[in-house]
Amino acid sequence: MSEQQHQARKRFGQNFLSDPNIIRKIIDAIRPEPGERLVEIGPGLGAMTEPLMARLDHLHVVEIDRDLIARLKEKHSPEVLTIHEGDALKFDFGSLVADGAPLRVAGNLPYNISTPILFHLASFAERVKDMTFMLQKEVVMRMVAEPGTEEYGRLSVMLQYRFNMGRLFDVPPGAFRPAPKVMSSIVRMVPRPVAECTATDEDLLGRIVTAAFGQRRKTLRNTLRDYMDETDFAALGIDPGLRGEKLDVATFVRIANHVAAREE
Ligand code: SAM
Repeated sequence: MSEQQHQARKRFGQNFLSDPNIIRKIIDAIRPEPGERLVEIGPGLGAMTEPLMARLDHLHVVEIDRDLIARLKEKHSPEVLTIHEGDALKFDFGSLVADGAPLRVAGNLPYNISTPILFHLASFAERVKDMTFMLQKEVVMRMVAEPGTEEYGRLSVMLQYRFNMGRLFDVPPGAFRPAPKVMSSIVRMVPRPVAECTATDEDLLGRIVTAAFGQRRKTLRNTLRDYMDETDFAALGIDPGLRGEKLDVATFVRIANHVAAREE
């Protein structure tokens, strides 16, 4: 089946990279080295897969579209390419970590599932060396946003809790077929050392962050009413008249750890 014959499927967020210069730039940013263990999410028609394979001994891919899986199988032997068929949202990325060698993850991610896939991948952060993704620019801006900005929210806090992140460069719609309506960006995510800033109860941290951003215009006194009273705010030296968007990740972790310790 030729590239032209594959009808891009909207439900799988299929926008295939077609600009060779952009593809080269992305592969250079990933900088794959022989011997490394790397998994690509959503190989599609292989725009990134083949140049990645050229630099690696072996590559893993996770793909949901059966037609694309059949194409990949036809073209590449299992000795050099392992195809994991199915939904990346349910895939156990931890199963690819072998001999303690940390996993590298890359992909031009399907934009329709970007937030759930980022949260799913965050749960494997401890076993990952780095992740390099293409996503909608607007999502990347939210991922890397600083406190006090409009883009700063739950996604920023929960991902910055686990990763140091940087936006590398933007990719215009014309680099894809079919062209998406929006601008894309490449983001690199490197897990933070665990000891740096750890919540004793990560589910509680998630609930507190969700509450703090649930009603953006309200103050912490209101949004965190179920968790913190005036005495708690005073004990932590945090002004309850602030909005959640003003708090950095470390402050959210201090709040979560204070609530967890008090409830013990
Ligand atoms: N890597 C190719 C490229 O850059 O041209 C394709 C990128 S396209 C934006 C997203 C790819 O992810 C498609 O191949 C699509 O079939 C696949 N995909 C979509 N949803 C998926 C899921 N839940 N799990 C695994 N792959 C998925």
